[in-house]
Amino acid sequence: MTAIDDHRLASLQVRQIATRYPRLIGRNARLAEHGTGPITAAVTVRTDQGAHGWGLLCGAIEPSHELIGRPLADLFDPASGVLLEAALPLDLALHDLAGQILGLPVHALLGPTSAEQPPCYDGAIYLDDVEATEPAGLRTILNNCAADYAAGFRSFKLKIGRGHRWMDRDAGIRRDIAVTRAVREAYPDAQLLIDANDGYEPADFLGYLDAVRDCDLFWIEEPFPESQAALTALRDALGPAATLVADGETDPDLDRLLELAAAGLLDVLLMDIVTFGLTAWRRLMPTLVELGVAGSPHAWGVPLKTIYAGHVAAGLGNVAAVEGVPGVCVGVEPDHYRLRDGRLILPTGPGFGLTLTDE
Ligand SMILES: [Mg+2]
Repeated sequence: MTAIDDHRLASLQVRQIATRYPRLIGRNARLAEHGTGPITAAVTVRTDQGAHGWGLLCGAIEPSHELIGRPLADLFDPASGVLLEAALPLDLALHDLAGQILGLPVHALLGPTSAEQPPCYDGAIYLDDVEATEPAGLRTILNNCAADYAAGFRSFKLKIGRGHRWMDRDAGIRRDIAVTRAVREAYPDAQLLIDANDGYEPADFLGYLDAVRDCDLFWIEEPFPESQAALTALRDALGPAATLVADGETDPDLDRLLELAAAGLLDVLLMDIVTFGLTAWRRLMPTLVELGVAGSPHAWGVPLKTIYAGHVAAGLGNVAAVEGVPGVCVGVEPDHYRLRDGRLILPTGPGFGLTLTDE
């Protein structure tokens, strides 16, 4: 018998949360301008005992109102997460609710704290330069890095793949190289990550890599659509370099990703914290630990997702670095997370430590 057993689900209320980025976020290799912040659906769950929790809605499906009246213990186990498929859209909200009832932060439900202040990188260095000449374009990218450094980030993920859609192929590769080298020169101590959103041909990517070989890349994300042959060639090209290879954000085929990881071709898996889900990450992480592969739940483009991923890092461990989405969430307290020297300071308090200011 736990405190959870006393509660039945009494209501579900869906609402929208607005994100505001600190600047207009431009394109990545595949997608046009990302804008100034999305509107995202969230759900508040209440119990017949007066407890409530909330979180972003998980998955495309609406939560089933047939769940109303069910004992909370049928839907959720604090030790493992969501128990019923119909309740998966409530994955984050039920974790928050359980934390509220038990008086524990979500990371404490997930496991013994291994990294209370996980490293958090800046995920907002997009292709904001592609309409500009190279000198002006590099200034734009460096200004974005400087703004995010001032906000507390100490490592940067640079979007690359300019030649996929937005620039001539060779000019795009040259600009990717120039941006990588300029940021490395401006921030010699920063961890540099690069993310091509699968926008490179494998041979072209090896050419880019060769030209930035002295830039000490911390991680390479989705350089090209994953394949055994291309990833093997990438591993050979990296040689003894400690650079991590990360994949699994786009249309993840988990069995395939685990095969590639088991073959030593992937170092970090990236499934999204909302669409893949927190319960799925809880189930998966022990397998990744066994394989010697890290996780890092994809968090773009809502700052709340950075906090969710931070709880995964703090509770489950084995997260290489948390993806930071700069900005504020309107109507949420605190409206943004805090960073100290590149580390994520999670909000304190039960659940995710986040409250809706108008509830
Ligand atoms: Mg990515």
